[in-house]
Amino acid sequence: MKEARKGCESYYNQNMTTVLIIEDESELVKVLRSYLEQGGFHVLSCGRGDEGLALWEKARPDLVLLDLNLPGMDGLDVARAIRRQSDTPIIMVTARVEEIDRLIGLELGADDYITKPFSPREVVARVRAVLRRAQSVQVVAHVLRAADLEIDLDAYTVRRGGTLIDLTPTEFNLLKTLAAHPGRVFSRMQLLEAAQGVAYEGYERTIDAHIKNLRSKIEEDPRHPSYIETVFGVGYRFAKT
Ligand code: CA
Repeated sequence: MKEARKGCESYYNQNMTTVLIIEDESELVKVLRSYLEQGGFHVLSCGRGDEGLALWEKARPDLVLLDLNLPGMDGLDVARAIRRQSDTPIIMVTARVEEIDRLIGLELGADDYITKPFSPREVVARVRAVLRRAQSVQVVAHVLRAADLEIDLDAYTVRRGGTLIDLTPTEFNLLKTLAAHPGRVFSRMQLLEAAQGVAYEGYERTIDAHIKNLRSKIEEDPRHPSYIETVFGVGYRFAKT
């Protein structure tokens, strides 16, 4: 058994794209750090969940690589705590291969996940891809575009192939929430809250009716949707285009 890494590497540099690794296997941190640094990233690391969260609050990195199973505070709780405050991209790293654990991680707002064992090259590629996605959403924050769909967040209008589509406020909010984070899985409760401002247990299924209506308006073939995908047993996500 390797000893849990104590303390954090907390020197930080505002001018570089910074990745925070919260991981208790020090050998793994060493390898990831070296690949990420070669890739031009500044790297912070922490071996405990609670200290990692504290460092995240202080350093506000551009992305977090987050192990699921951590001393101090579980990775899922760290992800929840970060998501309550910010949209910092999170990549979950897990040795628990069960599909449901992966989905729970994503449902919490993680942007991607990687299962152990992994190649460090793959991790660097995923970090770049997730950052690209996050940045492209920020740059066009007032207009979200996906294939022939255009969602104007200021004007509250949606166009497909240039043609205006008439959506209810609930449908618009649902679409906006999903489309702002392509690939991220949202639970029905999360969508209910986003669409209506409040969410009550037991009403999750009302989302299905809204999604059905939304698909009939924006999808070419609502029975084979290309924008809003169903994630069985969890909820919905917007397709990565
Ligand atoms: Ca671990």
